Amino acid sequence: MLDTTNTVVLRGDAARSFDRFADREEIARFAEAAGTFRAAELCGRKLFFDESEAAADRVIALREAADGLFRRAVLSSRLDTALLPPVLRAAASCLDGASEMIGGAEQPFGDPATPLRFETALGVSALSLLSGNEWRKIRICPNCNWLFVDRSRNASRLWCDMTVCGNRNKARRHYERSKATEVSHG
Ligand SMILES: [Zn+2]
Repeated sequence: MLDTTNTVVLRGDAARSFDRFADREEIARFAEAAGTFRAAELCGRKLFFDESEAAADRVIALREAADGLFRRAVLSSRLDTALLPPVLRAAASCLDGASEMIGGAEQPFGDPATPLRFETALGVSALSLLSGNEWRKIRICPNCNWLFVDRSRNASRLWCDMTVCGNRNKARRHYERSKATEVSHG
C-alpha cells in the first residue's frame, strides 16, 4: 500500500511534486514491478492491472485516502476516525468483483500459480495496516517524505532507504559540517 502512496513523488512539495499515475499506463507497469520488488511478501505471486479507467480511479482513490489517514497517524501517533470512512470505502471498492482466498499459512496473498489483481492486493494491504497495531510502525522519511513501515527490531529505522535517502543526508551533513569548520577556522 505504502509503495503506492509514494507514487506521488515529493508529496507536499508543491513546486517539485509530481504524480507518476498521471500517466495511467504507469499503473500497470508499477503493478508488474511491485510483484517483483514485493515478491517476498507476496510469496512469489505476480500482480496484474486490468488498465480500465474505472480501475485506475479506484486505485487512485484508495492511494489518496490511505495517504491522508496514515500520514496524519504518523504525525499525531493516533488514528483520526474521520479519515477512516474514505479508506474503508475505497478499499471495499478495490476488493469488489474478485474472490481470493488470502491469509493461508503458506499463501498469505493466495495461490501464487495465478496472478493477483493489483486492486485486490492494494485493498488487502490497506486493511492489513489497520489491523493490530501495524499502522503504528509507519514512518515518514525526513528526506523524501515517503511513507514506509519500520520493521526493524528496535523500531529505529529513520530513512525509507538507507542507500538513497540515508546517504544523501549523510553527505549533506558532512558538507554542512565541513562548511561550518571552514567558517570557524576562517
Ligand atoms: Zn526517503
